[in-house]
Amino acid sequence: MLSFDPKIVDIPKGHHVGGRYLDLPGGEIEVLRPSDQQLMGIVNDGGVAAVDLAVKAAKEALRASRWAKIAPRERAKVLFRFAQLIEEKNLYLGRLEAMGSSRLISGTITGDAIRTAGVVRYFAEFCDKLEGIVTATEDGTLSYVKREPYGIVGAIVPWNFPMITAAWKFAPALAAGNAVVMKTSELTPHSLLALAELAAQAGLPAGLLNVINGYGHTTGAAIVRHPDVMMVSFTGSTNTGAAIMSLAAQSGIKPVTLELGGKSPQLVLADAGDLDVVAGRVSAAFMANAGQVCTAGSRILVEKKIADELIERIVDKTREIKAGPTWDEATTFAPIISRRQLDRIDDMVRRTISEGGSLITGGAPMESRNEGNFYAPTLLDNVDQDNVGFREEFFGPVATVGTFTELEEGIALAAHPTYGLSASVHTSDVRKALKAADGIEAGMVWVNQHGRSPEFTYTAGGYKGSGFGKDMGRAGFEEFTRQKAVWVNYA
Ligand code: NAD
Repeated sequence: MLSFDPKIVDIPKGHHVGGRYLDLPGGEIEVLRPSDQQLMGIVNDGGVAAVDLAVKAAKEALRASRWAKIAPRERAKVLFRFAQLIEEKNLYLGRLEAMGSSRLISGTITGDAIRTAGVVRYFAEFCDKLEGIVTATEDGTLSYVKREPYGIVGAIVPWNFPMITAAWKFAPALAAGNAVVMKTSELTPHSLLALAELAAQAGLPAGLLNVINGYGHTTGAAIVRHPDVMMVSFTGSTNTGAAIMSLAAQSGIKPVTLELGGKSPQLVLADAGDLDVVAGRVSAAFMANAGQVCTAGSRILVEKKIADELIERIVDKTREIKAGPTWDEATTFAPIISRRQLDRIDDMVRRTISEGGSLITGGAPMESRNEGNFYAPTLLDNVDQDNVGFREEFFGPVATVGTFTELEEGIALAAHPTYGLSASVHTSDVRKALKAADGIEAGMVWVNQHGRSPEFTYTAGGYKGSGFGKDMGRAGFEEFTRQKAVWVNYA
């Protein structure tokens, strides 16, 4: 029985700086539960003062613990303990995540917390696998390139998949020997605070992982601007990514990695297989987490021969959902994170229609779902390339549909002028699959599935306006290191 009463869950309070919860003055932010719009807790906008304290704590922790200098295995030991504790607290973390975000309890208990622990363990294993290179030189000289941590890194995260997205950053950063100053999303702060407390309980030296709350333009910007924050890892929208690049450039040159938005195509060929199975897969790709997934398959492109039948089956799937509170295990369809985001989705759907798009199904908020924010799964047709519904990310359970006759035409339609995060192709012909994978300009391409599988081993990251730099995989670890070339003349 996974369902629970949200009243029984302890809500963390304050920022988590220097290994403990800390109350600091700052504008109050009311955090509402997306399922019913009830108050979950109040956090403060930490601003410059909280960032300064966190950076000070990080600096002192790096000095006192010698985190970057100790034997790498010792770092790994602490991180393994941290992963273990996350798993032990699975029930609490899963409930906290489900209460405060759009994630359903059926997924957070079996997925989010366990996967967060998995990410920490995956990167812990990298601690003593970091290797450099010796380059070819003449006799009497030695040239080698080694990787070193940055020192203090900043991390700014969004509200979808709060724990997992955060772990993609703090786990490799810590494993590589850095200290972290992380800002939670103002919409979903609580589960990250709980993770920081578990890190402290696991024996991570106090001050190596600091989690502070606040708005982007105040606290987030203060992290990017801080002269002692040596690199910034960001996940969020493309507009905010551009603002962060600009801020980073104005406040001393520092590297940034940007995991940004997407408008990912799903290319379905006539030989994709059982249409009901394919319809299930394609509809899940834009309805899971109510479409609040950076890689959501929001542009469905179908080979003409099967288009009518497939779309009909996808429409049937949209009617099988059960919207409800995230803490009810029977719920299969998630709420939208906030009323503001719900209104934005609805406004964009209306603009898409006024610019020539036509509605196949959905197209409105769902009524009588307590006070929560639910938007009906929506399919739109006739959305031209100059239509807002093509140009911009809905970040809700909305997809456009289009058709093609030849594979080349489908590949051309899959291209997007701004985004290049991910794409999928559904076919039983491996040659067509590989041709599409080569032809589509995106950082991730899946064949006969859409979305990341639980493996941590491959990188996430986009092309073009979907960002640069990688999370996860070996590259996601190396992002938190910088290279030093050493030349020794011993002749
Ligand atoms: P957002 O860009 O509004 O906010 C993300 C974070 O940035 C928040 O913590 C916010 O407070 C902070 N922020 C906002 N303005 C800032 C500023 N000027 N300076 C510093 N920080 C600032 O995004 P969101 O609405 O929280 O998340 C949804 C977006 O994230 C979507 O576009 C989605 O595609 C994207 N996303 C991408 C990935 C990926 O891996 N590529 C993963 C998840 C989400």
